Amino acid sequence: MAIATVNPATGETLKTFQPLNPGELEDRLVLAEQAYDTHRRTSFATRAGWLHKAADLLDAEHDTVARTMTTEMGKTLVAARAEVAKCAKTMRWYADHAAALLADEHPDPADVRDSGAARAVVRYRPLGVVLAVMPWNFPLWQVVRFAAPTLMAGNTGLLKHASNVPQTALYLEELFRRAGFPAGCFQTLLIGSGAVEGVLRDPRIAAATLTGSEPAGRAVASVAGDEIKKTVLELGGSDPFVVLPSADLDAAVRVAVTARVQNNGQSCIAAKRFILHTDIHDAFAERFTAAMAALTVGDPMDEATDVGPLASEAGRSDLEELVDDAVHRGATALCGARRPPQHPAGWFYEPTVLTGITPEMRIHHEEAFGPVASVYRVADLDEAVALANDTPFGLSSNAWTRDEAEQDRLARDLRAGGVYFNGMTASHPGLPFGGAKRSGYGRELSGHGIREFCNVTTLWYG
Ligand code: NAP
Repeated sequence: MAIATVNPATGETLKTFQPLNPGELEDRLVLAEQAYDTHRRTSFATRAGWLHKAADLLDAEHDTVARTMTTEMGKTLVAARAEVAKCAKTMRWYADHAAALLADEHPDPADVRDSGAARAVVRYRPLGVVLAVMPWNFPLWQVVRFAAPTLMAGNTGLLKHASNVPQTALYLEELFRRAGFPAGCFQTLLIGSGAVEGVLRDPRIAAATLTGSEPAGRAVASVAGDEIKKTVLELGGSDPFVVLPSADLDAAVRVAVTARVQNNGQSCIAAKRFILHTDIHDAFAERFTAAMAALTVGDPMDEATDVGPLASEAGRSDLEELVDDAVHRGATALCGARRPPQHPAGWFYEPTVLTGITPEMRIHHEEAFGPVASVYRVADLDEAVALANDTPFGLSSNAWTRDEAEQDRLARDLRAGGVYFNGMTASHPGLPFGGAKRSGYGRELSGHGIREFCNVTTLWYG
């Protein structure tokens, strides 16, 4: 895949970039290692000062960086601005919390005595240079979610971003540099996915994090496993959105639409499978379909647009194949299931609601990465739980019920990294984020995220 900015709203190639040559790549690895040796010895207060400055720069430049993201991957400008704001907030959160999250721990004195020590301390030390392989769908957020805790912990970062968001990737390198982080603390590597293995095997790389598809996760984790290097994987999802009779139906329908079409439907934590109790199925499906069909599809720079184009032509083809497979096997499209005729250029796809899904259809167990919702009818809570778990993924889940006993049951039985009641899954810097099953392992955000790339060191004093 060429490293290039191609506008998904028009299909026009705006700018292409040369990948790094071997010499340039080597220079960056050398610099990353040198920077680590200095950065690991800086104080939390110094790092926090730089991160606050990066947040201030983001706020000041939010419109420019939002427009770059919209141009590169097609998210609406409104969504891009919100992404910038969330990144600034997360930088400030880690700047303000990292010292406490990574403070020395003092084990139980009885255990210390029993170990034969006069005293013992657990210290969170950094690991080294961390390689981040990142996707295009939240081109700023996915990187900041990694970089803010990583830099605060005293690690340095190398970013291999998705090939279709090079300008956002280069902006990020500049941003951290301008904020005061010394050269080499955070660098962007303009390389294709074929060059990742060589970088990961380099002894100067301590660990890796990947957000992306299952095949990419498998490739990176296999190499890292072979090299005995720690990884965090944030992969795909097909989150359920369970609606039970006690739900506030108006709110559930409104949130369901946002949960499905956020980011033009290309979000790992988008609700993708709508599992409706038979008592509210017809009312929900009717209102949900009407709301999906009423969305405005169009130019992502236009503030009146709800749904912009998909990020790539290949992404739209994949989605079309998934929908066509379902329809050919007997599913019914209640709306959409086609390219909008009013937008012949660009990679647009109409918001779609499918019903009559069966396990033989690919969409039943694969991720629909675009504005396509699968609607199911279930007879009771048992069937809802079984269907919600009938997926290879386990990223997050959503459940609408005001019944506490039902909430307890769902909290116990939904096999996912999150269960969001009466709302939609949304990440927050203070809450852990990550998946189970084929959605990956490890956690980002909160104290759990910042400790993933730490060397948890026992200091034992005889
Ligand atoms: P992708 O094709 O897997 O790409 C992600 C990154 O991995 C890109 O930088 C890509 O580089 C690189 N890559 C691809 N194949 C690789 C390989 N064999 N070895 C090393 N690197 C490789 O995914 P995407 O299409 O950008 O993103 C969509 C997927 O990401 C969806 O499945 C979505 O659910 C998932 N996602 C998950 C989360 C989460 O937090 N769990 C968040 C967002 C997205 P190139 O661009 O150069 O190919």
